[in-house]
Amino acid sequence: MKIINPATEKVIAEVRDDDAGSVNQAFYRARRAQKDWAKVPLSIKLGMMARFRDLVVENKAKLASVLTSEVGKPITQSNNELNGLIGRLNFFLDNTESVLKEEKVFNDSGMEELIRHEPLGVIANISAWNYPYFVGSNVFVPALLTGNTVIYKPSEYATLTGLAIVELMHQTGLPPDAFIAVVGGPAVGNALLDQPINGVFFTGSYATGRKINEKVAGRLMKVQLELGGKDPVYICDDVDPKAAAEATADGAFYNTGQSCCSVERIYVHQNLYDKFVEAFTETVRGFVIGDPTNEKTYIGPLARHAQLDVLDQQVNDAEKKGARLVLGGKRRPGTGYYYEPTVFVDANQNMALMKEESFGPIIGIARVRDDEEAVRMMNDTNYGLTAGVYTKDKTRAERILAEVNAGSAYWNCCDRVSPRLPWSGRGHSGLGLTLSKYGILTFTQPKAWHLRSPG
Ligand code: NAD
Repeated sequence: MKIINPATEKVIAEVRDDDAGSVNQAFYRARRAQKDWAKVPLSIKLGMMARFRDLVVENKAKLASVLTSEVGKPITQSNNELNGLIGRLNFFLDNTESVLKEEKVFNDSGMEELIRHEPLGVIANISAWNYPYFVGSNVFVPALLTGNTVIYKPSEYATLTGLAIVELMHQTGLPPDAFIAVVGGPAVGNALLDQPINGVFFTGSYATGRKINEKVAGRLMKVQLELGGKDPVYICDDVDPKAAAEATADGAFYNTGQSCCSVERIYVHQNLYDKFVEAFTETVRGFVIGDPTNEKTYIGPLARHAQLDVLDQQVNDAEKKGARLVLGGKRRPGTGYYYEPTVFVDANQNMALMKEESFGPIIGIARVRDDEEAVRMMNDTNYGLTAGVYTKDKTRAERILAEVNAGSAYWNCCDRVSPRLPWSGRGHSGLGLTLSKYGILTFTQPKAWHLRSPG
């Protein structure tokens, strides 16, 4: 498998990918290792994860540079991702013990009832490339801490990062068979699903998530799908348009618009529309696009060449249906998978731009009459990952957000993930969750103990 730098279009490495045979061997190694790994005391497991965190800190510059070279993520943002990883690891280090504690729910005249949490067994972690450290660690860290062994398939677009993660993990003293990388594209992911695994934890697109769900449906195993989004933000008429524009432009264009929770569509109250559009366009005009190894760069290339076609199609469709292009709207000529930061105004719900995930540096802005129309527009989607409202009035924000069908609700913020809160999508955005105490328990199965003492 050739690893291509999306900024230079040069092959930067060649990696041998797995096949059905090696995936099968990985499964049997992981299965043999699982029982012993589950018996390792939690304190030892936590020590290994703390060592992993320290190794990430020690190797940060190198890891950031590898991520930037294969994904095209601007180097400042690669460093930000690694800094954010430390916070997530600390969350798991601080909370796993209390979350896994057995619970005594009843104790009366010789009858005791307990809940204890057991691992699922061998789990598959099929991962995405856009935040490989975040989306990977949300799964493999709590999965390992709760006693599962993990077969980890990094995205084929973040293979070098995936292999670096596994290497660092093994340096902590973690048994190599507790955490095994399999490398390759869809065929390797598919071969992994053919194994008698005990759960699949997937991060990626709705299209792939659906295929995975269908493939394993008859096996009645745990399936968790963290999928795409078409996340809306509503700008009320009582905010400072410049501050709201700066915050939401960052939410839309950070990571070159390739975040699952990127702001993907913006609805603005009619009273503030013109001022907001002007401030938003000004902000986006100031974004530095270019070489992702340069610390000043804010917009890099897209990670995948194929996504350029998706953006072209959305631009053509939006223009045909009457949206007004105020910025960008085309690929940047020259080397690299670059797309100019693109802003459409007067967009509407008939456009792919407002309905389908763009996953790139492009945004549609639409005018709404009032809060009621904003809620209707925000809910006009098959997705349901996040939604945000900008207003000075907390009661107004909570009233609106309570009506919106999304896993995360943001007041005066966007494009934000917290390890302390559950991360989940509704509808086409997924099934199940990661992060928070529930994102630890999700890698376990409860056993109900009914204990009657003989006396
Ligand atoms: P993708 O669906 O193309 O690929 C994801 C993974 O699935 C890759 O490892 C790929 O090799 C594997 N795969 C592809 N086909 C498969 C098959 N038939 N069987 C088994 N495995 C298969 O997605 P991507 O391009 O890597 O990621 C981008 C998508 O991920 C976006 O839609 C984004 O919104 C979403 N995402 C969601 C979250 C979240 O937390 N909800 C986080 C990050 C990314």
